[in-house]
Amino acid sequence: MMSADDGATVLETKDEGPKISDKKTKFDVVIIGAGPSGYTAGIYCSRAGYDTLILSGILPGGQLVNTTEVENYPGFENAIMGPDLMIDMRKQCQKMGTTIVDDEAVDVDFRRKPFKVLTGTEEYEGRAVIIATGANPKKTWTRRRTDICWKRGFILCDM
Ligand SMILES: Cc1cc2nc3c(=O)[nH]c(=O)nc-3n(C[C@H](O)[C@H](O)[C@H](O)COP(=O)(O)OP(=O)(O)OC[C@H]3O[C@@H](n4cnc5c(N)ncnc54)[C@H](O)[C@@H]3O)c2cc1C
Repeated sequence: MMSADDGATVLETKDEGPKISDKKTKFDVVIIGAGPSGYTAGIYCSRAGYDTLILSGILPGGQLVNTTEVENYPGFENAIMGPDLMIDMRKQCQKMGTTIVDDEAVDVDFRRKPFKVLTGTEEYEGRAVIIATGANPKKTWTRRRTDICWKRGFILCDM
């Protein structure tokens, strides 16, 4: 586990994967969230042939964009920087055919199929919806001590 900065980092990527057209709002699967869970779900769904959309919310890449070296992911003998790992996951998703839209889900309608996921400007439909919105890292100890440690960059997180 690595140290954290207080502020949020938003990945800036030049996407080369498929782009959503103005009209395309219907998908087999809509995934809400673009952290490791959302990207993993995207890779699996697209690879299985499902037309898949990821809505990434305000933090594309999820929590790992806010850390430095990730040492416990298999496949990286020398660790990998969190933001780099998440850019690679995003690219892998897009290579599989997942459409990624950097927008936030503000409402859902699961009363009947196809399910609906609403952003501020669009209404998406999916025969299935996967919610991968993650969690906030817990800050332990007293509020004052936690804030001091968090700002100095050495508090630890676990879900
Ligand atoms: C500082 C720090 C260091 C860490 N270091 C490590 C480490 O070294 N190794 C390790 O294994 N784990 C580490 N973790 C834990 C790891 O980051 C999490 O376990 C992991 O990110 C959880 O992935 P997730 O996809 O479930 O959720 P998250 O990464 O939390 O992603 C959630 C996603 O959901 C999106 N979202 C939320 N609401 C909406 C909405 N309404 N509409 C659309 N999208 C939405 C967000 O924008 C984000 O993209 C660290 C965490 C932190 C904070």
